[in-house]
Amino acid sequence: MSSKNAFRSSLAKWLLATGLLLMLSACVEKPSTLERVKEAGVLRVITRNSPATYFQDRNGETGFEYELVKRFADDLGVKLQIETADNLDDLFTKLHAPGGPVLAAAGLVQSDSRKTEARFSHPYLDVTPQIIYRNGQPRPARPEDLIGKHIMVLKGSTHAEQLAALKVQYPGINYEESDQVEVVDLLRMVDEGQIDLTLVDSNEVAMNQVYFANVRVAFDLGDAQSQRWVVGPGQDNSLLNEVNAFLDKVDKNGTLQRLKDRYYGHVDVLGYVGATTFAEHLQQRLPKYEKFFRDSGKDQQVDWRLLAAIGYQESMWQAEVTSKTGVRGLMMLTQNTAQAMGVSDRLNPKQSIIGGAKYFNAIKEQLDDSILEPDRTWFALAAYNIGTGHLDDARKLAQNEGLSPNKWLDVKKMLPRLAQKQWYSKTRYGYARGGEPVHFVANIRRYYDILTWVTQPQLEGSQAVESNLHVPAIDTSQPPADQSPPL
Ligand code: GLU
Repeated sequence: MSSKNAFRSSLAKWLLATGLLLMLSACVEKPSTLERVKEAGVLRVITRNSPATYFQDRNGETGFEYELVKRFADDLGVKLQIETADNLDDLFTKLHAPGGPVLAAAGLVQSDSRKTEARFSHPYLDVTPQIIYRNGQPRPARPEDLIGKHIMVLKGSTHAEQLAALKVQYPGINYEESDQVEVVDLLRMVDEGQIDLTLVDSNEVAMNQVYFANVRVAFDLGDAQSQRWVVGPGQDNSLLNEVNAFLDKVDKNGTLQRLKDRYYGHVDVLGYVGATTFAEHLQQRLPKYEKFFRDSGKDQQVDWRLLAAIGYQESMWQAEVTSKTGVRGLMMLTQNTAQAMGVSDRLNPKQSIIGGAKYFNAIKEQLDDSILEPDRTWFALAAYNIGTGHLDDARKLAQNEGLSPNKWLDVKKMLPRLAQKQWYSKTRYGYARGGEPVHFVANIRRYYDILTWVTQPQLEGSQAVESNLHVPAIDTSQPPADQSPPL
């Protein structure tokens, strides 16, 4: 072999070897985070255990963050595995640990100090940090009013950062950071006067207003911010890109808005006064009737909290009320209904609740078999308010419009038409105040949501929210899920 040929042959060998090496290294290149998640078939997410993020109710896992991140896992086609952090420092430590959760969905806001150690997604919820004080105390109006007050915030939170920055300007401000509490504890401590003030995100206030009658917003501290999901530090954008595409999608298709309405709509539905009034009545009125609701719920196989929610909507839990139209008592039964349900004294709360429960079941039974749960429960409530005849008219209107007569979302759009001549003149039962059952059902659903959270076994009793740091056990004293409406 000539030296030229020998050179060519060794060059060829070298090229081949290098090529093989390159191919090999391509094969063993580390899979991206997204690939690893898909490979494992599990998305591990870290969150906080709180009503605004993640908790367990009688049907299992729930919460705003949970529901959103569950949809993301479903989109990826993987299982969701939720882990809860003891506090915010713990959350970031776990997110950074190799082999740990890959995503944090915990109502987190971006901040300068966090930017270096974590990467934030597109926003999904706009919030404003709010200073919270106790009703009856002087209302702080500006930062200098925080001087000399006992303030507590979550350790490691953006709120602690905000107060640290404020303290530079107003050295008289002192605040305590605690890693032993959740936001719900901070609100309770203000409510009970154990601390003077706290600083939390506005979504948490909206959600919890109904539980704490004395909690009031003093003022917004700083500008609106956005809650975002977080992935750990590094260069690998695979998961972050997927998260962002998902958040953009649910923003556009309305899913995100529906979740926001469901979790943070209390104050919208009840109004600020309604929310605080409900909180008061929860403490002062419900305890008198709770046993009756529980007992007849058991007897009639209806979730007692749904009965209590109807009772609140009807009479605000007052046994001796009579309306202009002659309906009376805690469940506001008409004379005819009371008779049909075997109620001899409508002002007797126990009888009224039993009658209401029976009536609710009787109406539900009359509904067309094609209406399935959970819509069946909403239809039954609407009929409780307006009667089955009018409800059927609205279902027919829905059908004529090409909507589903079996979906509450569709039929509730038609109900207000029963008050307009152009529509009711063509119906069998004629005019009805069709907007009313729509509010009736929306309110009851809201009360029911609140009661579900507040009556978790761990929270029951007067010190309700005290130890809300751990996932409460599922309430097994309730009827099985199929007897109560999945919301
Ligand atoms: N958003 C806060 C944070 O990012 C935590 C939740 C709250 O305190 O309301 O630190």
